[in-house]
Amino acid sequence: MKPGTACLCGSEHFDLAFRYDERPNGEVTFDFSSGGAYRRDVLCCQCCGHYLSVHDMDMSSLYSAAYVSATYGADGMRRTFERINSLPADRSDNAGRVERIAQFAGKYFGDRVSSLLDVGSGTAVFPYRMQLRSGWRCVALDPDARAVEHARTVAKVEAIRADFTKVTDLGSYDIITFNKVLEHVENPVGMLAKAARHLNDSGLVYIELPDGEMAVEGGKDREEFFIDHHHVFSAASLMILVRQAGFSTLEFERLREPSSKYTLRAFLRRSAP
Ligand SMILES: [Zn+2]
Repeated sequence: MKPGTACLCGSEHFDLAFRYDERPNGEVTFDFSSGGAYRRDVLCCQCCGHYLSVHDMDMSSLYSAAYVSATYGADGMRRTFERINSLPADRSDNAGRVERIAQFAGKYFGDRVSSLLDVGSGTAVFPYRMQLRSGWRCVALDPDARAVEHARTVAKVEAIRADFTKVTDLGSYDIITFNKVLEHVENPVGMLAKAARHLNDSGLVYIELPDGEMAVEGGKDREEFFIDHHHVFSAASLMILVRQAGFSTLEFERLREPSSKYTLRAFLRRSAP
């Protein structure tokens, strides 16, 4: 373990959950993990059950370009978009997400909702389907130029190329969504906290995170523990993330999705000042 490794909750006491001496089955091969020795530990916080992935491989340039290439390949985004779009609703994680958000927003806002920002939109299937379902203005945000071009030309949604943690001129939205995004960054608290600046009054945030507490039973090859996830959450660490970022939880649930992913999801609002 690196000296000074600390959990979101502040604890520095961990158990070793998994040790990897080679790339686990199914994990994407990134440039940085394909040469030299593969050595990585997944640690579990003794206090809150949060998981941290700890290694010395350099991931600094991952999301600028390599992630799209490694994950989708040439023209893979369009094919992935079409494949996910053609799934029947009962086999689509995205269809479940769209319905859940539409249902919650209807209850929470009535008809007073008109805009949504999806941070880390990737294939843009979600903003595309959400916009079709709801009629809201759904905006995709991604740091990758190809993802943004794909969102505009294939998904035909408004799209912004930006690093969400740095961008300032975003405007504000009724709903901001982080669908399996916060686990990919080293500082999920900082990223989530920034959403408060871009929410309308009484706006909502929706988060989805990998559920380590459920996935751990499936062993070290579960995708929840793959190298692109710095963090894998527990119910307790989700609550800690939310509070530290200045939000409170309106509803929280855990589910196993049609794809077999174990997922935590929650609707949030800004905490009272
Ligand atoms: Zn902890």
